[in-house]
This record gives sequence, C-alpha cells and structure tokens, in this order.
Amino acid sequence: MRSKNGFMIVSVALITFMSFSAWKAFAQKKNESQNLVLILIDGYRWRELFRGADQGLLLNTKFNSGDSARRFKKYWDEDPEVRKKKLMPFTWNYIAAHGQLYGNRDLGNFVNVKNPYWISYPGRAEVLSGFVDSAIKSNSYPNNSNMNVLEFINGQKNYKDKVVAFTCWSASGRCLNKENSKMLISVPWENIPGERLTDAEILANEIQHYAPKTFGDDERLNFEVYALAKSYIKAKHPKVIYLDFGDPDEYAHDGQYENYLDDIHYLDEMIGKLWNMMQADKFYKGKTTFFIVPDHGRGSGDQWTDHGSSVEHSNETWFMAMGPGISAKGEMKMKTQIFQDQYAKTIAGLLGFDYTAPKPVGKAIESVKK
Ligand SMILES: [Zn+2]
Repeated sequence: MRSKNGFMIVSVALITFMSFSAWKAFAQKKNESQNLVLILIDGYRWRELFRGADQGLLLNTKFNSGDSARRFKKYWDEDPEVRKKKLMPFTWNYIAAHGQLYGNRDLGNFVNVKNPYWISYPGRAEVLSGFVDSAIKSNSYPNNSNMNVLEFINGQKNYKDKVVAFTCWSASGRCLNKENSKMLISVPWENIPGERLTDAEILANEIQHYAPKTFGDDERLNFEVYALAKSYIKAKHPKVIYLDFGDPDEYAHDGQYENYLDDIHYLDEMIGKLWNMMQADKFYKGKTTFFIVPDHGRGSGDQWTDHGSSVEHSNETWFMAMGPGISAKGEMKMKTQIFQDQYAKTIAGLLGFDYTAPKPVGKAIESVKK
C-alpha cells in the first residue's frame, strides 16, 4: 500500500518535472535489456526446429546405428506439435511462450543466409559484423579485421571489458579477430584466465582437457563450452556473452542422425538451465535477452548431412529471441524475409545502441522489438 502511493507521488512529480517526451524516453529505457547472450548453434536446420525429428531420417539405417525403437520412443510422435516438444522441450514450452521464433518456411516466414557461401566462417562473420564480406569465403580465412557487434558493444559506456566469448572452434576466434582484441575470447583449449577462480571454474578448466577430441584437435564439445561459460557467468557477471556451439554440424557431417538429435536435445536443456540460473541472479533477472541463431542451414533428404553453395536449401535458417522489450509472440506466422546480416543491428538495438560499421549493415528487425 505504501509503495503504491509512494510510486504514484513520485510518478506525478516526475511527469511534472520532466517533459512528456523525456518521460517517455525514460520509460522506454527502463524496458530495454541490459545484458545479452548471443548463442550460435552451428548448422542446425529449421526443419527439426519447427517440425521435430524427420521420420525418413529416423528410419534410415545409413544415418543411424542401434535400435530404431529407441529413436522413435525418444523423438517421434505423429503430431508435429508433440514431436517438436519432444526434441526441444525448453524451446517449445518456454521460449515459445515468452519470446519469438522466426524461420518456419511452412508458414512463409523466411530467414536466410545472405552470403553466397553457406558455410561456417562466412556465416559467423555475417552474423557478427552485420554485413557480407565476399572475401571471407572459406573456413581457413585468417583474422577477420572487420568491425563486429561484440567489439562495438565492448566500446560502449558501461560495457568495457564486460563482453566475452566462449567458442568451440579456433576459427571462431579468428572470426572475432582474437589476436588483436582485448576482449576475453576463449578458444580450444584455453582455460578461464585469472588467479581467483571458483571451484566450478576450476572444474570446467580441468574437464575440457579430459574430454575426447571427438571432432579433432581444433574443436571443443558443447558441454565443455557450456561448463566454461556457465561457471564464468556465475562468478564474473559479464554483460554480453557470445556462446559458439559446434556439435550438431559435426554429427550431421558424419551422417549420425540420432546423435544430431540427442545433441540438440541436450543443448536445448543447457540453454534452459543457463536461462534459469541467470534469472535466479538479481544481476541478470528481468534485464537479460537471449538471441539464438545458426550460421547456415543444411540440405534436405539424403543431403541433410551437407551444406555449402552447391547444396540446395543450406541457405535456409531461423532465429529466436527472448527478453525484456520482446513481446511473447511465439512462433512468427507472418510472411516475411529476414537475412542474418540483420542480427547485429538488432542485437545492439536491444541494448539501446545503434550499431554502425565502416560498411553498410543490415537493418534492425523491427518486429523483434514491438
Ligand atoms: Zn557451420
């Protein structure tokens, strides 16, 4: 009762004191996100996100080993609404109820890669810089000297040294120009730096060295990136975090459909647990946005394993966003065409910044903020 009356008196006093437009700007500012987690899931298809597991691929013994009954029990249901929730329960029970999901082509809601290569490094570069640099055409491209939105935010007031990246892949470090950046950009097999680490950070540092090198010497597994990032976030409270996950693309290239599904199922749960941990922390609660994207799509049918400019459909992608100022519209059903060069300006805008770079950047996606 007292606080309600108090709030009214303060509100009236403020409106009287400030002009209406200044009050409106103030109110809008309060609604903006102060923290942001950008999550990249390498090569995950819109098909599984919006339709759930594919029956033909579940049945195909070329892409699976072991008991098909087990796969069907875990991920199949005749009803696509049930099926997609079996695969990604946090996404469909929580993000769909509190945020927005784009890219269901069955509804004409199109999200596409803009660069002409449809592979990983150029995809990340487009996401992070907000424009296509056609010179970036291979995954072995050296340091990317273009401006990126993380570096831009790190240069803003109150964000200096509060922007960090935990990545699965050394190329992700080159894409962020790690060698010439002062931000913490963690690549395989770097430990969380510093003297005073929590027990969780120490354990995350240790276990990455004991995990199998399933995808070679150059790539960390999702759970290692998750453990490093989650323990660091809990201890150090960065304001902007880029998480770069690679397993789904690797399992797909290896033609292992059940592992690809298991992997995204686990990642969905990790994202949920990270969200819940941050919402239980007053530093992040109610003022943190999650923005989740892939770097490219993949082919359909037997070509689901592959991507690149010669593989049809591998420029088809999706994204999701959830946080303050993002209305709970769930699955977006309007006919539209969005490109992934639009994420950078959108992300900066959610924090109240107008991202610009030496090259023209993609327009902010206005429906995200309405
Ligand atoms: Zn990729």
